[in-house]
Amino acid sequence: MAQLTDDCFAFSGPLMPLDEAERLIRERVSPVAETETVPLIEARDRVMAADVRAPVSLPPFDNSAVDGYAVRHADLTPDAETALTVTERVLAGHGSAVTLASGAAVRIFTGAPMPAGADTVFMQEDVRVDGARVVVPPGLKPGANRRLAGEDIAAGDVALSAGTLLGAQHIALAAAVGLTSLPVRRRLRVAIFSTGDEVVEPGAARGPSAIFDANRYLLREMLARFGCTVSDLGILRDDPAVLAAALREAAARHDLVLTSGGVSTGEADHMRDALAGVGALTFWRLGIKPGRPVAMGVIQSAGGQQAAFVGLPGNPVAAFVTFARVVRPLLLQLAGAQSPAPEPMSVVAAFSYRKKKGRREYVRVSLRRRADGDHDAIKHPQDGAGIITSLTQTDGLLELPDDMTELKPGMRVGFLSYAALLG
Ligand code: AMP
Ligand code: MG
Repeated sequence: MAQLTDDCFAFSGPLMPLDEAERLIRERVSPVAETETVPLIEARDRVMAADVRAPVSLPPFDNSAVDGYAVRHADLTPDAETALTVTERVLAGHGSAVTLASGAAVRIFTGAPMPAGADTVFMQEDVRVDGARVVVPPGLKPGANRRLAGEDIAAGDVALSAGTLLGAQHIALAAAVGLTSLPVRRRLRVAIFSTGDEVVEPGAARGPSAIFDANRYLLREMLARFGCTVSDLGILRDDPAVLAAALREAAARHDLVLTSGGVSTGEADHMRDALAGVGALTFWRLGIKPGRPVAMGVIQSAGGQQAAFVGLPGNPVAAFVTFARVVRPLLLQLAGAQSPAPEPMSVVAAFSYRKKKGRREYVRVSLRRRADGDHDAIKHPQDGAGIITSLTQTDGLLELPDDMTELKPGMRVGFLSYAALLG
């Protein structure tokens, strides 16, 4: 983390382009080094610390892909039906020693081992049973409906590579090749707190000028998808000394300290000053809307440990968007995960919109499927950065490029679903 200090975009001057912020994160943040081995049932959302090879081939033996009749293709008449005597019956989990005699067929079921000598399987729907014989049609290719040993993955090949963020499908593959545990990097430790004299805990007594805290709940849920251990440090007052002490204290025990509120230039926005006393800022003004300003930097604890810091804006929609575009890549980098940025889907704008050059803008939209199969993007009527219902009533964000100044109806533009943004 040491190198995440920079200066050029830290205070006044130009907005740092989002691409530049992402590049800094990729180049300067090192993943946590400690690793551990965890059982499969605890591996979801963890990040592979090393390549793991398949101890056995998958499938481990040639087997039938269908319920039907296993035959030797060379026994078949090329352009007419062939009648074959059914000699054996092989169920999945049985019949590993069965051999197919010449001119015969074996009744076989999905997953059962191919009898020695058999190379092709007819689906039961495609044949006619005639007493002890089965009559098969012409035209089936050799090897049809047979699954070869190792066609999924061969023993010794890399099944899961270092950097993989483990999901259900990866854990299934590990189980299928007989692994019981996986080497992963340790969980990230993330501290979160909200700031603001007006912010109170949901359910607590609320004074006439207070609001309930949405952001800690937002951040906690978004962090849960990255396998982090989250320390909830509560709500802090708008007091630079209180904030500085909390930042310094949290830096000793966490990889990342994530706050919301207090990063703009209002008189009660003290996060920047608080950070100045306990660490350094990498950027503060970022070319993103909603979201500017968002602060990123490094905090030094009293004991000399370092933690990354991101100060998100207080408005919940701005916190949401900046989490998706700044915190997510930072978390993935800290976690050692190789996870590409979500790929926007091309949709058609159904509204006009003006924006400033030099910042990436995210517009909350609902999608409507058109008769031609394309999708129209319809803007939510409210675009204030504090309107939480604009997130709950839409499907995702349109991503308007830094250079764009005007969006017109009918223009194609990239859409990121909430699921893609946060996954
Ligand atoms: P700030 O970034 O501190 O200037 O806050 C911007 C706006 O977001 C203000 O209207 C705050 O009241 C609101 N806000 C700040 N923190 C939270 C929070 N934790 N939950 C909901 N709204 C908040
Ligand atoms: Mg505030």
